[in-house]
Amino acid sequence: MNVPFADFSVMHTEIRDQLDAAIRRVVDANYFIGSPENKDFEDRFAAYCGANACVGCGNGLDALQLILRAYGIGAGDELIVPAHTFIATGLAVTYVGAKPVFVDVEPHWYCLDAAQIEDAITERTKAIMMVHIYGQVGEFQAVREIADKHGLLLIEDAAQAHGARYRGQRTGSLADAAGFSFYPGKNLGAFGDGGAAVCRDAAVAERIRTYGNYGARTKYQHVYKGVNSRLDSVQAAVLSVKLEFLDRWNAERRRIAGRYKKGITNPSIRLPQENPDAEHVWHIFPVMAEGRDALIAHLRDQGITALCHYPVPMHLHQAYADLGYAPGRFPVAEYIASHEVSLPMYYGMTEEQIDHVIDAANRF
Ligand SMILES: *Cc1c(COP(=O)(O)O)cnc(C)c1O
Repeated sequence: MNVPFADFSVMHTEIRDQLDAAIRRVVDANYFIGSPENKDFEDRFAAYCGANACVGCGNGLDALQLILRAYGIGAGDELIVPAHTFIATGLAVTYVGAKPVFVDVEPHWYCLDAAQIEDAITERTKAIMMVHIYGQVGEFQAVREIADKHGLLLIEDAAQAHGARYRGQRTGSLADAAGFSFYPGKNLGAFGDGGAAVCRDAAVAERIRTYGNYGARTKYQHVYKGVNSRLDSVQAAVLSVKLEFLDRWNAERRRIAGRYKKGITNPSIRLPQENPDAEHVWHIFPVMAEGRDALIAHLRDQGITALCHYPVPMHLHQAYADLGYAPGRFPVAEYIASHEVSLPMYYGMTEEQIDHVIDAANRF
């Protein structure tokens, strides 16, 4: 039996008519950038998150980068970034000319370790980037208190956590601003690249929108040296349709995660833990295994595609060699990089496929 890592076919077949109608609407309106479809999606997504404003962007990396620009962060500034995340969190910081200062993650939910942040704060530190890795919020309250104590901005990288909650409140409305990605494989995915900056402060949202539109508030009046990073209207229309189903799809991911957690009893596979303060949306179902590559190969032999997110921690990327970090510096991030295996997780997995993954994992 084949179990791909992800498969959108059931999801898209179920809402095919609505997707077709949404795309047709954009084509018929003959309006592809900055159309009413964009405002409609932005209003819906801001309301979904419980935030005041949403600005569609070209992708998740740009959403984060534009947030930092809108807050005036640039050369000479430092930002706290977890040592375990996708490279984009760090690239957003380096894009604006600032310096990422890595801090290890904690071993329970794999998010920023609040206890290690203060040692990394200097007088140049401007913000903390908190990444809800794999779809779960970590020690948010503790991080918020540190940010407040030191007068730092707190930014969420929510690219893996659409719809996740912390103490009942959704990502996107927890911190000062949040960057989301709508890359097709994310929990809320477009039919191509896309992203959004979600913020509390409408004035910040306005600066993000202006920066992302060549620095122009009105046509040909360029107030900043901006960039071109906007969400296409076709993607906005598709995302408005999909947003209606996000809670249902996330609930199914939680059900599959529950089946995995109950069914996988192999002592050489360490299962992920859930933060009692948070509601996980399982963008990734991460297990830790000694002999990680052997587990991936064993699953492949059974027709199952498992991946690793991510095999290199931030401080050991060649791209960040200039920052001078040595191996051994962030043991939890390094442990994850050498042990993590992501099991298949998508809306539309059959019971047989879920059972097949559980059986194969138990036979490793
Ligand atoms: C996907 C992702 C991003 C970047 O989003 P893109 O839309 O691919 O640019 C940023 N941070 C994290 C944690 C991600 O998983």
